[in-house]
Amino acid sequence: MKIKVATLFPEMFDCMHVGIIGKAIEKGLLDLECVNVRDYSKDKHRKTDDYPFGGGAGMVMTVQPLHDCVNAVDPQREYKRIYLSPRGETLSQRKVVELSREEKLLFVCGSYEGVDERFIELDVDEELSIGDYVLTGGELPCMVAINALARYVDGVLGSEQSVEEESFSAGLLEYPQYTRPAVFEGLAVPEILLSGDHAKVNEWRKQRQIEITKERRPDLYEKIRPVLEAEEAGRRKKRKKGGKTNE
Ligand code: SAM
Repeated sequence: MKIKVATLFPEMFDCMHVGIIGKAIEKGLLDLECVNVRDYSKDKHRKTDDYPFGGGAGMVMTVQPLHDCVNAVDPQREYKRIYLSPRGETLSQRKVVELSREEKLLFVCGSYEGVDERFIELDVDEELSIGDYVLTGGELPCMVAINALARYVDGVLGSEQSVEEESFSAGLLEYPQYTRPAVFEGLAVPEILLSGDHAKVNEWRKQRQIEITKERRPDLYEKIRPVLEAEEAGRRKKRKKGGKTNE
């Protein structure tokens, strides 16, 4: 997957070269290139911001450097162009999966009070937010989005299961996880996990997922409830059928 980032602070992306994402870049699974919007400014002082028309607080990123920057790095408009913005669609696991299916993404990070609206009109395909709060720039939101979607790129994570079994993937939050030792400070691991009975372990995990989601995210639970009820009805039918055959 090719990812380009237009930012005033490319050095912030140095931390992407660490850990799982760093390895993915090293292996060539992710091709991450950051470009400095300032390099495209035609202003003699390389300015990239100006006062807002109509007055008001703060500065606004000017349209010329942004427009020239994205069209220099993506002259054929092959990349899906995403401007990080609190006004955008809120990033969700569904959106992460959708973005991970793109071959080419170009993220644009805003600074100051944001960007001249004409840049969005001319050059942006969609706006993306990471939540209902305001940060000083689009760099952290951009890294959040890249980190989340990279996990769905083939070969980035060790096992396919890792993404499938996680929180949100099946509409439920994750079950509790345990590793060695079996007892710590008097707290023992649930016995079922040591039983070696995979069917029972899976059933226990699913039940914990349902309980935790119901308690912590009733909004998610309400969405998945019809699916869970249909699954339960299916199991009841199967048991009944099995019972009749045995009679
Ligand atoms: N004046 C803008 C507003 O009220 O919506 C906020 C501008 S913010 C200080 C500067 C830049 O940070 C934005 O242009 C955007 O790129 C980025 N940003 C801040 N919060 C964000 C969020 N929750 N999601 C995505 N990007 C964000």
